[in-house]
Amino acid sequence: MQINVKELTLKGKNVQLHESMDMSGLLSGRQDLEAFGVLEADLAAYADGNIAVVDGMLKLPVTMVCSRCLGSVQETLSIPFREKFTLGSISAEAGEEQDDLHQVQEDLVELAPYVEEAVWMALPYIPLCKEDCRGLCPECGTNLNERDCGCSTEKIDPRLAGLADLFKETRKDP
Ligand SMILES: [Zn+2]
Ligand SMILES: [Zn+2]
Repeated sequence: MQINVKELTLKGKNVQLHESMDMSGLLSGRQDLEAFGVLEADLAAYADGNIAVVDGMLKLPVTMVCSRCLGSVQETLSIPFREKFTLGSISAEAGEEQDDLHQVQEDLVELAPYVEEAVWMALPYIPLCKEDCRGLCPECGTNLNERDCGCSTEKIDPRLAGLADLFKETRKDP
């Protein structure tokens, strides 16, 4: 997937980019990914002065491993993409935000490395099957989302169980 920065900026062209991209090269080594599908890029490229702007959305179906219960988490990541390219010098184009502005030497810019970087950054660091996943029991390994195993690290007098619950309630993370 390429854009021609010169053509975009000189002619003020507006280009739609729809492309499927194989992410195997980037993702096949990731231990936290059980599977991933084909990335769908849905981008627009247009000129803003002598800057070519590419923005839009990347969609990537992934199956991750929940970091608490080790269950599978299937979702389609929606990853916003926005990068800017210029053949001019960047200092002359001083704007408020420069992070996503790249100075390029060639008219043709291959977008794949930028797409790959965006995908890499967007992968959840600690994937969870749900926000309040209860994880696995440290004693017996039961998936606590499915059932309570009855293990308890503390022995609680049944007469005080009510109090213990109350204690847990107040200690709950916000
Ligand atoms: Zn989980
Ligand atoms: Zn248990």
